[in-house]
Amino acid sequence: MSENERIEWNRGLCLNGGYAPDSDMGWEQFGGEDREMTMWDVVLDMLLAARGKVGALASGDARACQITWLTNHLLLEQTWKEMSQTLTEANFSSIQEILEAVPPKWLADSAASACMLCNVRFHPIMCSRHHCRFCGGLYCNECSKGRSLLPPKFRKENPERVCDVCCVRLESVQSHLMDQVSRAAQSPTNDLTDLSTLRSWLNFPWGQSMEYEIYKAANTIRGYDKVGSLTPEKSIPDAILKQAKGLAILSIAKVGMMVTYNVGTGIVVARREDGSWSPPSAISSFGIGWGAQVGGEVTDFIIVLRTNEAVRMFGGNVHFSIGAGLSAAVGIVGRAAGADLRAGDGGCAACYTYSCSKGAFVGCSLEGNMVATRMQENRRFYGKPSINTSEILLGSLPRPPAAAVLYRALSELFKKAGI
Ligand SMILES: [Zn+2]
Ligand SMILES: [Zn+2]
Repeated sequence: MSENERIEWNRGLCLNGGYAPDSDMGWEQFGGEDREMTMWDVVLDMLLAARGKVGALASGDARACQITWLTNHLLLEQTWKEMSQTLTEANFSSIQEILEAVPPKWLADSAASACMLCNVRFHPIMCSRHHCRFCGGLYCNECSKGRSLLPPKFRKENPERVCDVCCVRLESVQSHLMDQVSRAAQSPTNDLTDLSTLRSWLNFPWGQSMEYEIYKAANTIRGYDKVGSLTPEKSIPDAILKQAKGLAILSIAKVGMMVTYNVGTGIVVARREDGSWSPPSAISSFGIGWGAQVGGEVTDFIIVLRTNEAVRMFGGNVHFSIGAGLSAAVGIVGRAAGADLRAGDGGCAACYTYSCSKGAFVGCSLEGNMVATRMQENRRFYGKPSINTSEILLGSLPRPPAAAVLYRALSELFKKAGI
């Protein structure tokens, strides 16, 4: 609509209805950059985007599209590098200054109608607004993909959403913050596993946090210790513990009627060459079984990983099934079994499964249960979005102070076994 037509239209409104006073309802108000988004705009944007995609595909230049995207992306990356360079040189980026930073006042949503970095217009479905937790600005999803630990004054333990510029800025202090503010670096609050705390009475099968998983594992080991000292014939043979390359400790709930669902979470720790334990990695397990009884029970499991292969499987990023993906056997119990084991290699199963049922640890199968690493929880706990499990279990990551209670329980268990 041309300017003339607009004037005409305005005049028409005034003449016809007479209730469009002065310039309040005029086009000028809607013609501006910051006009409010209407439902029609939302739909129109989506239609345009869809048409653009279909058009690109139809004319066969999806490849070209990709290439331009790629070059754009490369250019963008280059720009970031340069920007980070400038930022490093700029006074703000002195590391001390970042570490001393205080939480910003977030910009109001109304402050920007488009992303402050790439200028793409915000849209309720296709492009939502996000606040950068470090600078408080408004960015699209693409420009705020990074997650970083924030300086101590922010009082945040998990990696938070930051814009691309702040992500680069914060990169230099991440390793320092991993040692300082990450959850792994905190000393445990709930470190009592005796009966004076209610949480030690029952291990909940689905732990939300790694801290609780660590507590649960320590509690299970302590529970096993008690059983082992009361009934040595029902305990894991020392020889098996001695050969262990790692342990997986899980609490699993079995619920259902006819079809039973086994769901639970836990941790894996690997034993290093020098006999020390690696940091823990969170895992979850799921399985379906058949059972005649109705009801449910929670069972604690200790799985002794006997080969490096088994540790790698438990520490892998893929789901695998106990039994099919990894040979597993019902754990051998009793002191007597130790004699055969010491002589030979002690069977060919890669892991032995023990469960605590009715107050005693017995050999038990977890066959068919799927196991997966809880990547999200690992990332949050260690405060490093790019962390993978082989780095945790097989790398040189230091033992997190947050798992102190677990290492205490483990060293007691192995001391008893005379290792
Ligand atoms: Zn953007
Ligand atoms: Zn930012």
